[in-house]
Amino acid sequence: MSFGDEGGRPPGLEVIGVEKSFGGTSVLRGVDLQVPTGALVAVLGPSGCGKTTLLRAVAGFLPVDAGTIRVDGRVLADDRTWIAPERRRVGIVPQEGALFPHLSVGENVAFGIARAPDRAARVRRWLDIVGLAHAIDARPHELSGGQQHRVALARALAADPALVLLDEPFSSLDAGLRAQVRAEIADVLRHDGRTAVLVTHDQHEALSMADLVAVLLDGVLQQVAPPDEVYRRPATLAVARFVGEAIVLDARVRDGMAEGPLGRHPLANDASDGAVHLVLRPEQIVRSADGVETVAVRRTFTGPDLLVELRCTGGELLTCRTTGDAAIAVGDPVRVTVRGPVLAYPRHD
Ligand code: ATP
Repeated sequence: MSFGDEGGRPPGLEVIGVEKSFGGTSVLRGVDLQVPTGALVAVLGPSGCGKTTLLRAVAGFLPVDAGTIRVDGRVLADDRTWIAPERRRVGIVPQEGALFPHLSVGENVAFGIARAPDRAARVRRWLDIVGLAHAIDARPHELSGGQQHRVALARALAADPALVLLDEPFSSLDAGLRAQVRAEIADVLRHDGRTAVLVTHDQHEALSMADLVAVLLDGVLQQVAPPDEVYRRPATLAVARFVGEAIVLDARVRDGMAEGPLGRHPLANDASDGAVHLVLRPEQIVRSADGVETVAVRRTFTGPDLLVELRCTGGELLTCRTTGDAAIAVGDPVRVTVRGPVLAYPRHD
């Protein structure tokens, strides 16, 4: 799916220059985010970076100090306007689903549409879409964690929101179920064409589910781009370190090539001549008979993959991702080379 050509339509969500401080501590610093209509955007960042604060500001649970928030072109908050949460047409899928335990599944889905004349039909339709029509009379505790999430999504969507916010919705699920529920929920949102913002600290979740990933570090949005671009061309060293595993080495850029302990490499991003932090991904380190000499110092077997930590003669450490059946033992000499272009970020020291 491609986004960007909105045909003159306003974006599904616009956040412009949003600032928020708590007791003198700045938590959101000039956040600008545009979400095309129908896109699923993941706001990705570590604990404490301000993700939930941004979500609560968009939902209307928290006033912002400055900035503008619009949904489908309608101003929800700016320096003159403040629309109450219940009038924003913003649906929320909270952490752990948060269903009402004393209500049936059907009553949970109906909760936000109490006055809708076609309430019963809407409840049936949404339970059907999330594959739980048969559970309409069940109580939440009779469902699995994944099923409860699907009910929470149905409850949010039944109210026909202009925007859906998902707040770390899968954090309580175990790893196997999480991947499945993520895929199911992304399918429902895409099929429905609903604009959605997912907040998560989990890079796999963001990269695998979202159309666009917005990386928020310390209250600043560092990059908003499709998942493969965030991984392959991180805008900053901080993004490169946070998204995926990064091997960071000292190097220099000269005449458009990076020169470091593993040789000369073409660049994947724009970098001026001078001292740089060179960034590699573990899958770029490959064994090669005429490569540089290293020694294996640690091995981590994960099933399909074997991660081997290698020490170069200069003391630099590299992580090499190879197949689980590779015969490398700690202490083995390993010759490696770098496959593909590298990332370089100016060093300010
Ligand atoms: P997590 O992934 O751990 O939920 P987060 O990225 O969602 O983290 P926020 O919950 O937005 O982070 O919090 C960002 C910062 O703002 C934290 O330092 C937090 O302590 C602070 N903060 C959040 N809400 C309040 C509040 N109501 N009063 C004071 N400080 C707050």
